[in-house]
Amino acid sequence: MEISSLIIKAKKWLDQNEVIAIPTETVYGLAASIYSKKAIESIYSIKNRPSTNPLIVHIKSERELYKYAQNLPIKAKILAKTFWPGPLTLVLPKTDLIPNYITANNDTVAIRVPNHSLTLELLSDLEYPLAAPSANPSNRISSTTTKHVEKYFKGVLPFVLDGGDCSKGLESTIVGFENGEPIIYRLGALTIEHIELVVGKVQVKSTLKDSEIPMSPGMFNKHYAPKTPFYVVDEVMEFLETTTAKTIVYIGHQLNIEHRKIKHQFLLSENGNMEEMASNLYKILLKADALESDVIVTTWFENKNLGMSINDRLKRASAK
Ligand code: AMP
Ligand code: MG
Repeated sequence: MEISSLIIKAKKWLDQNEVIAIPTETVYGLAASIYSKKAIESIYSIKNRPSTNPLIVHIKSERELYKYAQNLPIKAKILAKTFWPGPLTLVLPKTDLIPNYITANNDTVAIRVPNHSLTLELLSDLEYPLAAPSANPSNRISSTTTKHVEKYFKGVLPFVLDGGDCSKGLESTIVGFENGEPIIYRLGALTIEHIELVVGKVQVKSTLKDSEIPMSPGMFNKHYAPKTPFYVVDEVMEFLETTTAKTIVYIGHQLNIEHRKIKHQFLLSENGNMEEMASNLYKILLKADALESDVIVTTWFENKNLGMSINDRLKRASAK
């Protein structure tokens, strides 16, 4: 189908208060008009998402930010100007144009301009922003292809806007502000190093001590998880020798290994490219999970740049 007819179709469903799937550069989203309470309620029920977990609002341009958020710290303005469209979500005080049912009654809104040509075109044809959490049942691995979306939500959605595979393949980085200073609430596709180049040192608050209440539910320790028991280790050979599991799926970063217990192995990137590893991570985790082995195992990344965001997801996916 031609692009313009895809957009017309998507708009038709959204205008009729329906939930559809949309592509972004990070992961696929389950999208609805922020002004359709009915469709927003459907998003929560389709995802089985707790009503306390607010949604990210997707807008068409940086200019729109000032309609939906207020009292912006200067560093928020700089970040939006520098990285939008892109994988950065800002948490800011909301204006009355954002309904409370989008933000789980918080007085802040999480907002971004996604960097995907189809979705940007769709947004510019709509009279409202889109609320769009990731297109996966709560706590499961996010979808980075239409195939994943269809597998999770077969027969549930009237329309999936096919924008190909997501180029980043990891969720957006979420940044909030305390006393005007940026704080990272969720590590993601935009690295801390990139953020610090424009606004200086930032704090990271994406992990929690047991008693703390999450600033952002993406901070919950268990998240993005496969069904198969998943281990992330320092030394894979040591793990293979000591585990009692009989069938093992190994996810390598770049190189294959030989071991009698390995039933199947996947590589994240044959040439060791970090962007490629990040964009393949969920795809491969989902494939590994489908093999229904006793365990899936991989190793930690060096904790910097995208490796830090990937480690964050590995930690949550393997949390017990
Ligand atoms: P998802 O779209 O499924 O990746 O999830 C969106 C993430 O954004 C969740 O972790 C939300 O908790 C977070 N989020 C959305 N709105 C807010 C907000 N007002 N304050 C803090 N975090 C938010
Ligand atoms: Mg999600």
